[in-house]
Amino acid sequence: MSNPPPSNLFYQTRLRRPVLARGEGVYLWDSAGRRYLDGSSGAMVSNIGHSNPAVLAAMRRQMDLSTFGYRLHFENEPAEALATRIAQRMPEGLDRVFFVSGGSEAVESCLKLARQYKLARGEGQRWKVISRFPSYHGSTLGALAVTGMSLMSAPFAPMLREMPKIPAPTCYLDRDGLSHEARGLRYARLLREEILAQGPETVLAFIMEPVGGASTGALVAPDSYYSEIRAICDEFGILLISDEVMSGAGRTGRYLAGEHWGLRPDIVALSKGFGAGYVPLGAMVADRLIAETVIDAGGFVHGHTYAGNPLACAAGLAVLDEIDRLDLIAAAARQGAALKGRLEGLMACYPFIGDVRGKGLLLAFELVADRETMEPLPTGLNAHLRLVDIAYEAGLIIYSRRTRGGRIGDHFLVCPPLIVSDSEIDEIMEKLDRALALFAAEAGLPVEA
Ligand code: PMP
Repeated sequence: MSNPPPSNLFYQTRLRRPVLARGEGVYLWDSAGRRYLDGSSGAMVSNIGHSNPAVLAAMRRQMDLSTFGYRLHFENEPAEALATRIAQRMPEGLDRVFFVSGGSEAVESCLKLARQYKLARGEGQRWKVISRFPSYHGSTLGALAVTGMSLMSAPFAPMLREMPKIPAPTCYLDRDGLSHEARGLRYARLLREEILAQGPETVLAFIMEPVGGASTGALVAPDSYYSEIRAICDEFGILLISDEVMSGAGRTGRYLAGEHWGLRPDIVALSKGFGAGYVPLGAMVADRLIAETVIDAGGFVHGHTYAGNPLACAAGLAVLDEIDRLDLIAAAARQGAALKGRLEGLMACYPFIGDVRGKGLLLAFELVADRETMEPLPTGLNAHLRLVDIAYEAGLIIYSRRTRGGRIGDHFLVCPPLIVSDSEIDEIMEKLDRALALFAAEAGLPVEA
């Protein structure tokens, strides 16, 4: 085996990938000159595409002024401007922005702010954060404790304060004769049951991804789910934390995914699309009253050194400008609907596609052995790795997971940058079609003529 480069020592696989040379728009090139269509925006990050000239120019301008001033020594204009911009687009009353450098940090911040708020209110017995299974909220120990992916958390079990989990609303797997909306209510009420089982006075918060990301493959709950979850949290004085790390910044066709259902969380975690691959950037946005209560009680006991640095914030501001200038939220809704229709069209040809789901350009399809029963493909096929590799060979990048321990099998996220054009959607579909045909032949799966 050739020596892996030092930067690659710690990844799960020793598989060598090509070396990235450059990116432009929806495309990336490796050092051998091969072109790839970035059909997953990396890990659902590069929402405005690669090498956006306006963002790069804004970063250069900021670099000539200052790149860092420690937050306890200075405020800075880009951070103030970005916080104001973010707050303007949040649900009413959520206008206190706390910057971090990524999604896990944003989630950690949400958990700690929730805890400090309840402490300040004299409710120190509340510490349990209920979340869903499967779910992904980050890889740091606090975020991992609320992450519902046993493969990721198992090695660290002795070091984690494991938090209660309820099943995610995987209605598409249910064969119970209930209506879609009735299923939504049933899944939401699992939260109520869990709160009662845990003891409502010990429960601090509930955290969820309003549209699921990597863990569930773009899972969308029935409409009834969202308002019921909010009502249950209110009934027991439990904070609702919305993890919009992947679904925010316009990806689902709304600024926040929760807007599709008028969801009013208490605290929101943001990242990915706000830095859009240009800089590490994330934020927690909190209800004003929650933030003020914590500040009045002595302040938030939390923070990261690089938080709110002027370079990251100037880039984030330019990203938001580009999202507005190019009308990318509307584009995500329009192109997402077109792409989803095309993915659904593949089901006629490939009976092993069990489900196509998602909102806007947060889309996924799931492969199964049997569409009727939704039985997963045999583990030995390694579909989640093979199809991605075959597509990669064809010059298309997609993102996959096989979430074990839950009921979900091999799913694949197709989430190109929001700037994706009609002809680029054609190219995604042509390459995906070819990859599915090759995978079917290799795996001995049936294909309709
Ligand atoms: N929450 C969600 C919903 C995510 O999708 C992710 C990243 N996949 C995270 C949190 C963690 O973000 P990061 O990898 O930037 O720490």
